[in-house]
Amino acid sequence: MSMRDNTTEECPTFVTHLECSATGERHQADRLHGLSRAGKPLLVRYDLAALGEAIDKETLARRPADMWRYREFLPVRRAENIVSLGETATPIVAVPRLAAKLGGGELLIKDEGRLPTGSFKARGLGMAVSMAKELGVARMAIPTAGNAGAALAAYASRAGIEAYVFCPDDAPEVAISEIEYQGARVYRVNGLINDCGRIVTDGREAMGWFDASTLKEPYRIEGKKTMGLELAEQFGWDTPDVIFYPTGGGTGLIGMWKAFAELGEIGWIGSKRPRMVAVQAAGCAPIVKAFEAGAEHAEPWAHAHTIAAGMRVPAAIGDFLILRAVRESNGFAIAVDDETIEAARAEVAREEGLHLCPEGAATYAAYEQALSDGRVSKDETALLFNCGNGLKYPMPPVTRRLDCTRPIDYAAL
Ligand SMILES: *Cc1c(COP(=O)(O)O)cnc(C)c1O
Repeated sequence: MSMRDNTTEECPTFVTHLECSATGERHQADRLHGLSRAGKPLLVRYDLAALGEAIDKETLARRPADMWRYREFLPVRRAENIVSLGETATPIVAVPRLAAKLGGGELLIKDEGRLPTGSFKARGLGMAVSMAKELGVARMAIPTAGNAGAALAAYASRAGIEAYVFCPDDAPEVAISEIEYQGARVYRVNGLINDCGRIVTDGREAMGWFDASTLKEPYRIEGKKTMGLELAEQFGWDTPDVIFYPTGGGTGLIGMWKAFAELGEIGWIGSKRPRMVAVQAAGCAPIVKAFEAGAEHAEPWAHAHTIAAGMRVPAAIGDFLILRAVRESNGFAIAVDDETIEAARAEVAREEGLHLCPEGAATYAAYEQALSDGRVSKDETALLFNCGNGLKYPMPPVTRRLDCTRPIDYAAL
């Protein structure tokens, strides 16, 4: 095949070092790292001046539309280490009928359910596995609500890396089966994601695992950062006024905020930034509680429960980074209950033909609530994130039947 391909051509890279997100301490690039020496997430830093010189918007626009078109902004040094399953740019779909019904402004949904393994976890784990390959990792492990494990399983198999996955035993059945089917070893754990995380931490040494937990390795953020680069490009190198993001560990929110900072630094976008809204479920809303309390860190949430499993993260190691982005952007954090999430999912499917995952539906529910309480105005263009494909989640059963051996009563249909 002689198609142009972002994953096979060599490309200059600009990573200078990794930086502790709490202390600013520098860590060497091109080495395997987990958390910083201070036990906090590491952020990848680039020579942005050189990056801005090396690439321009027109060159970028000629490349195929996938997340690897932003290679200069990404950490993978050598093309041969890129592990890809076709991370296509995801469409931004307008939902004008719902916008009119709510009396709001322009309402858009970025549909990340189109990505490999059916969720935006493909961006983060695709990047993490590529870097793990580049740095010689043989075995990875991850705690997951489902989607991260599915993405790790797929990319690790493709890279020839062994993967161990631990999920709460009430994780969606499809995800658990998918993880095993795509070549990982998956265990159901009778606890929450933090309990799964502890199993990974405690087993790291004995099992020789590289820990792919949210923010405990530096590259998933860089993968999720491509959501920000991509949506800015889709907006003509501008941004929407407000972004509603379903927040669990916060990788995507932190990653997008980093994307906008980097794009601003090289002058590709102006000084306008979207207001970042962290959406959580009422049954697990540590970030919302901390936001409202004016706290820098979140308290662990007791008895976390919600149908939106991707947001059931009682304690996020990057809590202070999420809160910082939300506050710097003049955004807010908002919680919606499960009943409202279910109703929102059904409404968007029925009215607009878009099948959101529960976490994606939560962003719609949150938008509706914020519009009615005035935290978002109808002058603002809002972008909601649908993070996964609705087909991976249970739907209400259908019981209507017809007997084709008898005359059909068409009037009764
Ligand atoms: C992982 C996940 C989230 C949370 O994403 P973060 O960027 O880690 O906060 C939300 N929804 C779904 C479906 C997920 O898989």
